[in-house]
Amino acid sequence: MRFALVLLAVSVALPAQTRSRKAHEHGSAKVNIAFETAKGSPKGVIEFESPADGVVGFEYEAKTAADKAKVAAALNTLKARFAEMVILPAAAACKVTNKSAKLEAEHHDAKQKGAKQEQHSEVHAEFDVACAKPLSGLEIRFGFMKVFPKIHDVEVALLVGDQQASADVENDKGVLKIAK
Ligand SMILES: [Zn+2]
Repeated sequence: MRFALVLLAVSVALPAQTRSRKAHEHGSAKVNIAFETAKGSPKGVIEFESPADGVVGFEYEAKTAADKAKVAAALNTLKARFAEMVILPAAAACKVTNKSAKLEAEHHDAKQKGAKQEQHSEVHAEFDVACAKPLSGLEIRFGFMKVFPKIHDVEVALLVGDQQASADVENDKGVLKIAK
């Protein structure tokens, strides 16, 4: 709770810098999807970021072999099942390839004397997308909770050429329509 209040105070003080970035909030994630065009055989990239809690299940530094194995398994699941999380239209026959997936520690200094420093970490991943057919007029759907049940609130931004759209996907409900 204290952490959330600190973030709130920071975002009031620095609106321009924090507006575009969702706060580190457990249960949430952020996805950016970008394609140069929806026509022809579209190629694009998808970025995913989430507090590690939603993917790995904890955010402290993995030191034991068991915890390191949990981190590796979670990142492998993310890489292998991403197409079930961001469901590109079947008609476009898109292939999603993982480029990177990593865990980054975040340190937040405690504002009050004597308070413990909180350890948080985030998962960042990038995927390349190559579609065989146009995306024009088709829809993107979502299935984050089927893979990572904790991730229930996802801010998705879509950029296709000069078309921009966004959706706040709660409990996997939400559709992004790609313009013709
Ligand atoms: Zn956290």
